[in-house]
Amino acid sequence: MKMLISILLAWLFQLPLSAVAKERADLLIRHATIVDVAGARLVADQTVATRGDVIVAVGGDAEVAKAWTARRAIDGGNRFLIPGLWDMHVHFGGGPALVEENQALLPLYIAHGITTVRDASGDLPNEVLAWRGDIASGRLFGPTLLSSGPKIEGIKPVWKGTIETGSKADVDAAVARLKGLGVDFVKITDSTMKPDLFLYAIRKARAAGLCVSGHIPLALTVDQAVDAGISSIEHIGYAYKAGVKDEATIAADFAAGRIDRAEAYRRIDAGFDPGTAMAAYRKLAAKGVFVTPTLNGSRVIAYLDQDDHKTDDYLGLIGPGLRATYQWRVDRAANADAAGIAARHAEYEHEASVLPMLQKAGVTIMAGTDAGFLNSFNYPGIALHQELAIFVDKGLTPAEALASATRAGPAWFGKLDRYGAVEAGKAADLVLLDRNPLEDIGATRAIRAVVLRGAVYDRAALDKMLADTRSKVAAWDAAAAK
Ligand SMILES: [Zn+2]
Repeated sequence: MKMLISILLAWLFQLPLSAVAKERADLLIRHATIVDVAGARLVADQTVATRGDVIVAVGGDAEVAKAWTARRAIDGGNRFLIPGLWDMHVHFGGGPALVEENQALLPLYIAHGITTVRDASGDLPNEVLAWRGDIASGRLFGPTLLSSGPKIEGIKPVWKGTIETGSKADVDAAVARLKGLGVDFVKITDSTMKPDLFLYAIRKARAAGLCVSGHIPLALTVDQAVDAGISSIEHIGYAYKAGVKDEATIAADFAAGRIDRAEAYRRIDAGFDPGTAMAAYRKLAAKGVFVTPTLNGSRVIAYLDQDDHKTDDYLGLIGPGLRATYQWRVDRAANADAAGIAARHAEYEHEASVLPMLQKAGVTIMAGTDAGFLNSFNYPGIALHQELAIFVDKGLTPAEALASATRAGPAWFGKLDRYGAVEAGKAADLVLLDRNPLEDIGATRAIRAVVLRGAVYDRAALDKMLADTRSKVAAWDAAAAK
């Protein structure tokens, strides 16, 4: 029909057909090299047309430019276009006094090419759920937020902002409440959660159609959580534990009170076995359980003795209240003696060394940072790029690392139809890079422009986001100094 009208208009006004037959887009990104993350290959001289928050066409420049017209066109300059990055493990929290400081972290994600974050729960669940809605409706500027809402815990847990459960009926009510809140997934932590209820909560949440993630109680094996249906394992330490030969005995001894926590961890540290690990990881792969290693946070803590973060430029982007939450780990690390420091280094290196084994077993690795309050110097935004650099350093290819930050998140949420590739029909969340990330993963930091839900933020706009946050933090610091 559109075509017929175009032909009629061309005939009426004696115009060449091409002048009126063009489809209208909002934005054309011309002459970009598209990074096909799934195929680990480049497609040169492509043009991408977006309308609203969706990509409507992708193809050779000549072909797309002939068929589409747009209000705005930018020249990709043969730079590298990737799907928007996802940080699959972030936190917001630190108490009601820090709501504004947490909200000020949102632009940091955009300025670093991160267009979606998965909030793995903190102590401000209601605020975060409100931001999720405000961002989706355009009232608040930030990355697309996917949130667990309040996490499920036991009675009187160490964590705040939780739903406390001490019985199956409590868990049933918790899952119903989370369903009512429309959470994107369920997070369970184990500071006081009873092991049998932990497994019950996983089954209940899965039965309610929700993905589940969490910290697995020491009295259980990772395998028990996998059999109950856990959807992802957060923190590589649990993947390491799954590779411990006597894991079941250690869990049973701890559950029965025959050994304490310290002894359990001593035996876990000493008991890793590559054969056991590979069998466990192949099972994770077969069951579709993803792993979010969150190595950057562990690296920062492990090497606090060597890296002095006091002069980190990035601290100027983090509010004073959030910076104060960093202190406890710094103090704890400062108390360690030489043996303690060496043990910390060794633990990090041992745990990180299972990363290529997970990849080899076919486990989908998700890039997530654990950035937010409490997690010292693990900075929202830049931390994801540091995480990817660690992935490559520990043995992943740049393409695998890039997939962990662009495709694994959408895959976990069942949203690959909408995210994870630069293709027609996918979200107009894109990052234009100066360099080729398939050659050097460090290229994800060389951001020329970010497209968020169809809106373009060029380098100047991204720098302004950072400068604005810096001014905000400076004003908070000045007020705090008074
Ligand atoms: Zn976390």
